[in-house]
Amino acid sequence: MLDLKSMTPEELSDALSGMGEPTFRGKQLFQWLQRGAKSLDEMSNLPKTLRDKLRDNAAFSPPVVARKQVSQLDGTVKYLWELSDGNCVESVLMRYHHGNTVCVSSQVGCRMGCAFCASTIAGKVRDLTPGEILDQVLFTSLDAGAAVSNVVLMGIGEPLDNLDAVLKFLELVNRPDGLNIGMRHISLSTCGLIPGIRRLADLRLQLTLSVSLHAPDNETRTRLMPVNRLYDVEALFKACHDYFNRTGRRISFEYALIDGVNDHDWQAERMAERLRGMPAHVNLIPLNRVTERNLRPSRRMGEFQALLERLGVTATVRRSLGGDIDASCGQLRRRAMQELTQNGGDTE
Ligand code: SAH
Repeated sequence: MLDLKSMTPEELSDALSGMGEPTFRGKQLFQWLQRGAKSLDEMSNLPKTLRDKLRDNAAFSPPVVARKQVSQLDGTVKYLWELSDGNCVESVLMRYHHGNTVCVSSQVGCRMGCAFCASTIAGKVRDLTPGEILDQVLFTSLDAGAAVSNVVLMGIGEPLDNLDAVLKFLELVNRPDGLNIGMRHISLSTCGLIPGIRRLADLRLQLTLSVSLHAPDNETRTRLMPVNRLYDVEALFKACHDYFNRTGRRISFEYALIDGVNDHDWQAERMAERLRGMPAHVNLIPLNRVTERNLRPSRRMGEFQALLERLGVTATVRRSLGGDIDASCGQLRRRAMQELTQNGGDTE
């Protein structure tokens, strides 16, 4: 089965010429897919014989809105998409002054096990295909009627744990004949998988790398993020310094402040030390409470930020959008899964 949504126009052309079709059909097909066609029947400039061939040989099923929440506060829209195999992933549309941003998922679930995150509670089910990642951008934009200028890979899943698919997605979303989203308008967030960071560095992509740090010391970080056992703080900062030296791109560090866990002065100082020699930006995030997790948001947000600034580190507090909906990573999928199990006994 051909996965049409994951293919470039050139790959589509090759595949179609293998079926005895002229190569320009690849470009036409790509354009239909990029416009969000929902069925082969819509593709009126493709001959019926070709559409019939594709029906037999190609997988083509756009995601379906399983749930949608619209924030009354700021217009943030959160989608739960049902994929062709019945699995669900989330995307979020955020409206900023500089343009609309879509946050996309890279996996169904996650196997990284971070202590504060809803996405990982039930583990990883499977990786997403490049087309399934792309479809989140496309159909979020179409359904919300909003042009998208920025994409962040910060939804469910660990993008560097599905890097081949993510790289292909980046190629597709970046295409001038597709959604045409510039690399500088794309951010990729990772919990710190060093081999993936090194691979990205070698590619010298112009995207923004976000590293979910959440603690500058091994003891705290291992407690919050099991991945730290494999790639510890020293190794992670070394990889980040190397990344900056190779790409010249400033790294963004995510830091969700948790009451009494990672909000001590010494942790700000430790972080400033480790960032020396590298222009960095620290994003302080108010912890989103996840019902299953017994961690509380810090009460020292302002103080922690001021201390970092005094130590010469650029730090901003992330404005929280969608406070009235389940806009935090994995919460909507989690809620839907729970409701399904609760209702499971009553339905066939
Ligand atoms: N796996 C990637 C991307 C997905 S998570 C990563 O770890 O970066 C996106 C961001 O949301 C990460 O910085 C993650 O640490 C953060 N996050 C997850 N749960 C959160 C919560 N309850 N409150 C605040 N931030 C959270």
